[in-house]
Amino acid sequence: MLLDLKPLFSGSKDSLKVELIKDMSDLEFLGSSPLKKPVKLYGEIKSRAGIVEADINCEVEYSAPCDRCFKETVKNYNFNILRTIVTHTDNDDTEEMTVVSDMMLDLDEFCYTEIVMSLPTKHLCKETCKGLCADCGKDLNQGDCGCKKTEIDPRLSALAELLKE
Ligand SMILES: [Zn+2]
Ligand SMILES: [Zn+2]
Repeated sequence: MLLDLKPLFSGSKDSLKVELIKDMSDLEFLGSSPLKKPVKLYGEIKSRAGIVEADINCEVEYSAPCDRCFKETVKNYNFNILRTIVTHTDNDDTEEMTVVSDMMLDLDEFCYTEIVMSLPTKHLCKETCKGLCADCGKDLNQGDCGCKKTEIDPRLSALAELLKE
């Protein structure tokens, strides 16, 4: 969907509403497709003193396996997309800016780019998730598995070697 930003750049309008429910179930992120439910976007693109800025709120339901125990975990995230939109830039530093050609904003592309950058890189069923035992694979959230922990402080391993003899 192309959004015509000419009224904002020319000053004939000072804001454009954005309200969109977008299916992004085909988005791949960290090896899965976490956005199974449509993403809700709402906000506005406004022009203030000649500066055009997108201020869009984004609601996503993120469902993917927990990073540690692999249990399917659903979480809701809410984040804000705040970007300055320019028609051209003199430097290569476009990190804070979105450059539009012909004053048309490709809203789909914009959403994909911005949402991918805002998605969490850590996804846990709970902050304190203990994960799975590296030896037997038991879910340690359900109790200890009884495996001997083999991790030994490297400073102590030399001592352990001595004691074995
Ligand atoms: Zn977990
Ligand atoms: Zn174990």
